Formats: sequence, C-alpha cells, structure tokens
Amino acid sequence: MFDFRLECSDGAARAGTFTTPHGEIPTPAFMPVGTAGTVKGLSTEEVQGLGARMVLANTYHLYLRPGHELVRELGGLHAFMRWDGPLLTDSGGFQVFSLAAIRSVHDDGVDFRSHIDGSLHTFTPESVVDVQRALGADVIMAFDECQPGCCDRATAEAAGERTLAWLERCRDRFAALQGDSGAPTQTLFPVLQGNVFDELRAAHARRTLELGDWTGYGIGGLSVGEAKEDMWRTLELLDGVLPAGRPRYLMGVGYPDDLLEAIARGCDLFDCVAPTRNARHGTAWTAVEGQVNLKAARFRRDTGPIDAGCDCQACARYDRAYLRHLVVAGEWLAMRLLSIHNLRFLVQLGEEARRRIGDGTFEGWRRDWLGRYRNERSTS
Ligand SMILES: [Zn+2]
Repeated sequence: MFDFRLECSDGAARAGTFTTPHGEIPTPAFMPVGTAGTVKGLSTEEVQGLGARMVLANTYHLYLRPGHELVRELGGLHAFMRWDGPLLTDSGGFQVFSLAAIRSVHDDGVDFRSHIDGSLHTFTPESVVDVQRALGADVIMAFDECQPGCCDRATAEAAGERTLAWLERCRDRFAALQGDSGAPTQTLFPVLQGNVFDELRAAHARRTLELGDWTGYGIGGLSVGEAKEDMWRTLELLDGVLPAGRPRYLMGVGYPDDLLEAIARGCDLFDCVAPTRNARHGTAWTAVEGQVNLKAARFRRDTGPIDAGCDCQACARYDRAYLRHLVVAGEWLAMRLLSIHNLRFLVQLGEEARRRIGDGTFEGWRRDWLGRYRNERSTS
C-alpha cells in the first residue's frame, strides 16, 4: 500500500511518486497544514483546487479538541474533514514543546497543560501512536523530543537518545496494533534529530535505520532557530546517509526560498504554517518581487495581480488594489484569498521543481529563481 518510486534526479534534487492508500503524491510536494482538521479559512474543495495532494493535521490540537475518540467514532479524520486524499498527522511532540503551558519531560513521555483550558495531560510514545491510530491518517509520525536550534551539544545528545528510545516504543506499539480488524492502513515515519551537530546527526540517522525498515523519514529539529547554513549542511549530510528509495519529509519548512534550497538537497515533502499565517498578516509571495505586504500604500492603485505568473483564484480574478483594500479593512476575504495564493504559490513551486528535475534544468532554474526572489526581496 505504501511505495516510493524515485523517477529521476538532478544533482541531489529528486522527483518521485509516493503512493499511499488514499492516492499518489508526485514529489517534491508541499503539504498544506490543516492544524485542527482544517486549512485555516479554506474548505476541503478549495484545498483540492490548489493542487495539494497531501494534507497534514496536528495530533495535539485534535487530541484536545474535539478528541481523537470522537473523530474515530465519526469515521476517522478523512471522513470527518471530507478529505479523501492522503493525510499525515504529526506526533504532537512539536506542539507540546512549543505551545503547552507547563510541562515536564521524562523518559516515559511529556506531562503538559492544555493551552485551551489548562487541563493536565500526558503524551507517551504509546499514547501518541494510539491517538494517531484513532485519527487514521495514512502517514503517522513517531514521538520525538525537539530542542531549539541554539541548544548545547549535551542537550541535543540527550534529546536524541530519548527520541531513539521513544522510537522503539512507537515502533512496537504500532506493530502490536497492526492486527486490529477494520483499522486504517497506516505507516509510521521516524523523526530524525541531532540538532546541527554533524556527528550527532549522522549517528542518529544510522541508528534510526537500524531500528526498522521504514517507509519514509521525517527530518526534525530544523527551522527551529538555527542558522540557515547549519540547516543546509545538515540536509547535505543526511542526503549521504538516508536510503535514496524512501521519501524524506522536512518538517516545518515552507518559505519559498527554503523550499527550493531543501529540494536541491534531496528533500521530498514539506509542510509549514507560513503560507496561511503570512496571509493573515497581509503578506504574499511573488516570484519577481519576493515577499510583499499588501498594506503598503504603493499598492493602492495597482491593478495587476499579486503575481502575474500565478494561476490561483486570487491572481486570476482580483487585483492588488482590491486585495490591499480588503487587508487594510480587516476583511475575512483578504485572509482567504491570500491563503489561497500563498498555498498555491508553494504547491506550484513544487510542481515546477519536479518538471525541472525531470528535464535536467533544475539547478540553473533554481539559481535564477532564487536570485530574482532574493534580490527583489531585499529592496521591497
Ligand atoms: Zn496567486
């Protein structure tokens, strides 16, 4: 039911097809984040209209509200949110470490208080597998301890050891649940940690490979405050360690320039809340002007689309002057249209990268694209 076909490569960049029980994902691909079972502000039909093939949902949020058992009772997350394509859930670890009010981390798991009502909860490696089993996404993620990008080596090493111990427990729990009748067909991805310390990264990846025959790998602990050069060096290192024939999901990375840099270093799947979060602040991405904020007065009489090369609903129909008015007036439609644009922009970028890898022009295209995007960005 799960398969990854590597079709071609250009340098380290790869084009492939990831097959899941709910469909195929041509890679590289950006996955919109449906935090609480919804890509903020958009209907499932609108998300499909963006060309997005796989959507991510957050275990932490759905566990707290409405509760994973209710979602299971209602037929699982695919049925609940009316999304019949591939779905991925994270383990909840990242939200616990970044959102929960009070927490203690111990070898058995994490105790935390809900950011909604302060109630006390515990996530263990076993319980996050159980919750993700109830939600029923195609790809589920192992529980990991994610430390900030600026932590010291000893902290990173301890978090890495704990992540490996938790991975074994997630793997065993997942295996024990395989015999359930009527249960969803799922696969479990491990999360690679090790921060930006090369030896820790390499050792963690090798030990993860020894712990199972994984169908894919989550690359965690990046885009969490470290320098960009450290992220790129880490991805280059992992490219040399991870098996070529399995998809690599770079967790939490999704600004346009970062996406292209990571594709160039062998990553296949991406997610990030930046497209919708930026949209809520009036910010849009463009290929020739970089990142722009539509609140700027210079857009008052601008009758062009956000991005002339974009085929999204917002660019096809509305001009910058109107969108600027919506943003300044705080209209909901502004958030929706800019979300549609930013998400389509990233999905489109993945599609174009895939085409370029296919015809062997990726490297030159990437250099030109980034040069244009970054030059203009510094002056906007
Ligand atoms: Zn657009």
